[in-house]
Amino acid sequence: MKLSGRLRGPQLIGRIVGRTGMNDADRGRKRAWKVEQRGTARQAFPLSAELLTALFVHVSGAVDRSGCQHSLAATEEWIAQAGVDHDAVVEWLEENGGYCDCEVVANAADHFEQNR
Ligand SMILES: [Zn+2]
Repeated sequence: MKLSGRLRGPQLIGRIVGRTGMNDADRGRKRAWKVEQRGTARQAFPLSAELLTALFVHVSGAVDRSGCQHSLAATEEWIAQAGVDHDAVVEWLEENGGYCDCEVVANAADHFEQNR
């Protein structure tokens, strides 16, 4: 096979990286990795963004009004009222540091905001 004089594919990318330095390539890889992580995190959401927002609004209101009862009382109240999959939602909240209502607001809501 005869190669043409023009650069393409990996060769061209190698030339660009060589010119701009490895830091840009590292940054690019890091950015790509973050985008991928975000996609993975988003796919693990147990509910739509709209429903998760409604959940966090409800729980944060309850914690503001009556404090955290060191339980998922307000969270479970919303889950029952919304008629969504209890176990799927609670498992996801716990995976993201939400073991009680105030942690749901602080940790799981933060994870949601960063990956939605
Ligand atoms: Zn708490």
